[in-house]
Amino acid sequence: MSSTPAAPADAAARRAVKPVICYPNDTLPVPDLALYSRARESAVKTGEVRVPPRDAACFEVPAGHFFRITSIEGPQVGDLNLWNKTDLSERFYSGKTRALHGTHITTGERMWTSFPHLRPMATVVADTLGWYGIDEFGGSVHDVIGTRCDPYTGNLLAGSQYHHCCHSNLTRALADHLGVSPAEAEPHVHDVLNVFMCTGFTRGTGQYFMKASPVRPGDYLEFFSEIDLLGSLSACPGGDCSAEHSSDTAACYPLLVEVFAPAEGALGDWKSPPPNGYDRSHGRG
Ligand SMILES: [Zn+2]
Repeated sequence: MSSTPAAPADAAARRAVKPVICYPNDTLPVPDLALYSRARESAVKTGEVRVPPRDAACFEVPAGHFFRITSIEGPQVGDLNLWNKTDLSERFYSGKTRALHGTHITTGERMWTSFPHLRPMATVVADTLGWYGIDEFGGSVHDVIGTRCDPYTGNLLAGSQYHHCCHSNLTRALADHLGVSPAEAEPHVHDVLNVFMCTGFTRGTGQYFMKASPVRPGDYLEFFSEIDLLGSLSACPGGDCSAEHSSDTAACYPLLVEVFAPAEGALGDWKSPPPNGYDRSHGRG
């Protein structure tokens, strides 16, 4: 049996030490938002994908184009996976994005790729929920702290067999897009950006919480694509995630993904960011 150990005499002093930011981000390469904004003015829509409720859909966005995720019909949370279109092993790295930008992302912040690439793959250029900030519970929107709802955790906690969690939706959509089996697609599915989801950690117990998303139809989150992207978006079975997920109980709505191409030359000499410059020798010359 474990019990709480007695506090040392200097416990208060140890707790009073002020935190330091792990990764001060003032040396991060800064996106040229003014350039992106000028390019966006000339952009024309090239396609759209409607994501059905409790399901997912894939979409492709060439480097230098824009994509927008919009709430339509009703408040709905989306679980987003992104890959380098030509190399699925380079994919969104939720944990490092969190370390660099904090628990939630908004305009000017970026989704970063996995090792050994560690480069920006998508930059947020517009967020109509940018006004929300951090509420009195410590909640905010568009989190990189959750993973994605999945059938394994449901089975672990409740013995359930539910097939429309975001993990399964993303798996089916990727399998269909690549023309492979769900078993082949599943290992490519990874921790998501929780688009429109309102989450935080409880102060007292540090537990992950969710609350009804403040998103309303017409709200959107828009990105500039830094590399050629394959995306997959799931309309979470949790709907606005006000009560529960991993079931068919919540009201769910579709989401819209639109892709926009800037005019020829609008980005000047802009190029995709190169992969990370670390030499990968890991101390073994
Ligand atoms: Zn979900």
